[in-house]
Amino acid sequence: MKQVDIAVVGLGAVGSAALYFLSKSGFSVLGLDRFDPPHAMGSSHGETRITRLAVGEGEEYVNFAQRSQEIWKQMEQDSGNQLFIPCGGILLDSGVQPWSKHGGE
Ligand SMILES: Cc1cc2nc3c(=O)[nH]c(=O)nc-3n(C[C@H](O)[C@H](O)[C@H](O)COP(=O)(O)OP(=O)(O)OC[C@H]3O[C@@H](n4cnc5c(N)ncnc54)[C@H](O)[C@@H]3O)c2cc1C
Repeated sequence: MKQVDIAVVGLGAVGSAALYFLSKSGFSVLGLDRFDPPHAMGSSHGETRITRLAVGEGEEYVNFAQRSQEIWKQMEQDSGNQLFIPCGGILLDSGVQPWSKHGGE
């Protein structure tokens, strides 16, 4: 039986990223998923995702978002594919129910 250092169970965006960076760190890794990624049975499915540096959930997340964009660029270089398409965006709010943005309503 082949032995590995680390097994990651669940290969959505989070598990795949963990597996990728663990393997780059020199660990022998095994990724397990109940389906056959990429598939449509998790939150990471679909063709597009939005990411932004204006992180309304809290400014403590901004460094993570900036770092993730560096990683996207690196993955584009490694794969030779455009993965990240920068574009503008508009957030529309009904104004009926206030929601928190950077700690303010
Ligand atoms: C409709 C929708 C739109 C979204 N839009 C955005 C967006 O625009 N921008 C953004 O940043 N985020 C967005 N999110 C959130 C983001 O997609 C999720 O936070 C992220 O994909 C979660 O990744 P995950 O790896 O934690 O989970 P998942 O992607 O759900 O991965 C979990 C994996 O675990 C596997 N698994 C589950 N149970 C087992 C088991 N028992 N054994 C083995 N494997 C198992 C599943 O098959 C799956 O592959 C959106 C989410 C949804 C639902």
